Amino acid sequence: MCVFCEIAKGNIPSTKVYEDDMILAFKDLNPQAPVHVLVIPKEHIDCANDITADNSEYVKRIFEKIPEIAKSQGIESYRLINNCGEDAGQTVKHLHFHILGGVKMEEGLL
Ligand code: AMP
Ligand code: ZN
Repeated sequence: MCVFCEIAKGNIPSTKVYEDDMILAFKDLNPQAPVHVLVIPKEHIDCANDITADNSEYVKRIFEKIPEIAKSQGIESYRLINNCGEDAGQTVKHLHFHILGGVKMEEGLL
């Protein structure tokens, strides 16, 4: 089982900031900004390439809840990042969205 599935099942500890029946948000272990939260589906999906009509309900829920999760962390402006695949730097092969904020960021994407 992958590390984020283990976190979703509570087998590996995490600092949870939001949880419901479909998704979980928790603090990144190695924060890159004052607010750095990861949002994951509780069902394993490898990466964005594997989003289908059968599992997109999870993605829908994630995006519906992102504003509330960000607000709960005290931010309304944030950068949302998804790394898909090795060249993009995906290290954990379980779909996740990074919410980064709490600091004025550089413009640009890379
Ligand atoms: P990515 O490079 O997009 O795959 O991001 C993976 C993220 O997961 C990195 O920012 C890691 O710091 C974070 N991470 C890895 N293991 C854990 C963990 N056990 N708890 C919280 N965050 C983690
Ligand atoms: Zn997984």
